[in-house]
Amino acid sequence: MNMLTKILGIIGGGQLGMMITEAAKKMPEHISKIIVLDPTENCPAAQSGAEQIVADFKNKDAIVDLANKSDIITYEIESGDSDVLKSIEKNTEVNPSPETLKIIQDKFLQKSFLLENDILVPDFIKIEKIEDVKDGLKKFGFPALLKARRDAYDGRGNFKINSEDEIQKAFDYFQGQNLLLEKYIPFKMEVSVIASRNTKGQIKTYPLVENIHEENILRETIAPARVTEEITQKAEQIAEKIMKVIKGAGTFGIEMFVTLDNNIVINEIAPRVHNSGHHTLQSSETSQFEQHLRAILGLELGSTKLLHNTIMYNILGSKEFEGEYKSITLLESNVYLKMYGKQISKPLRKLGHFNLVAKNGETVEQLLEKLKTLKEKVITQPLY
Ligand code: ATP
Ligand code: MG
Repeated sequence: MNMLTKILGIIGGGQLGMMITEAAKKMPEHISKIIVLDPTENCPAAQSGAEQIVADFKNKDAIVDLANKSDIITYEIESGDSDVLKSIEKNTEVNPSPETLKIIQDKFLQKSFLLENDILVPDFIKIEKIEDVKDGLKKFGFPALLKARRDAYDGRGNFKINSEDEIQKAFDYFQGQNLLLEKYIPFKMEVSVIASRNTKGQIKTYPLVENIHEENILRETIAPARVTEEITQKAEQIAEKIMKVIKGAGTFGIEMFVTLDNNIVINEIAPRVHNSGHHTLQSSETSQFEQHLRAILGLELGSTKLLHNTIMYNILGSKEFEGEYKSITLLESNVYLKMYGKQISKPLRKLGHFNLVAKNGETVEQLLEKLKTLKEKVITQPLY
């Protein structure tokens, strides 16, 4: 093995692990092999050429095995066991650092950390019993969000409480998980910043993007966000401030709300590449996946300039069925389709995405108009 090249271990081999793998394969002078740990046989990353250890993300022996086989470890999911990762850190570098993961993966610890660092988050309180929910609602008013502190994704760990009589149902929904209650923010828009820091401390952020969610799931990302220069600057400054206080190298997704009075409130941080950064695959000189690798390898970070207006559209599983599927997509020349190779479709499961990239300086509004017809041509249906 070339002394300068490294074996990269990734915890999680879903679509994010897949796209990290693809970026890594384009850097053979730095990375000689990619190994992922994922419970699904022939996971998306394995289909893109990563070796795979088939095991649960929380399987300690499997994580140790991955660490023994790798020179450097990263992850695409935030539910990893930070204590196990900390224990392997003596022999194998882990980025972002397990300490940072420990804070971020628990929404209560994360929001407390941000608050301590003077970063605006929605008002929140820790919930241990149903009376705490009632007390919190007296303070915050309706609606408010009851949230699982850990292991939530695509809004599946959130329950919006609209009135008094929904309190019991909301509390029971979580079946004894650790919870927090959060004030509802009536936002104008959801936006995010993808930000990276390399092991030497260099920080770079991508331009602010706009995120459209339906039923708690990201549907579209519009790059750049349709906001004033003032809001853009404010959001990017807050992202930089967060990067300065958060330890560890890597790429992070920082989700924010633009409030009705044009303030920026942080929703949450993901310690990994992020769905709202998929547009960078075509819109930018450096994709967020390459940037993540540059960050953890201690290389100079790449340019984050947005070269073309772009809309990313998530292709989700039909709500009508679960099982093997085929998808029909009739796309055009400036549309870049990426399917994740998942065998089974489930309602609203992320199966792929496409980037609609502006040519000849098309505006975001023009792209949105085109997207309307493209959306109708993307159909996922049962295979049989
Ligand atoms: P992800 O979709 O990033 O996997 P998640 O499951 O961790 O996220 P959150 O990011 O907490 O969930 O919330 C999902 C969505 O719910 C947000 O993008 C936003 O649309 C809405 N939401 C969450 N918290 C609030 C809040 N305090 N006020 C208003 N809307 C909220
Ligand atoms: Mg979120």
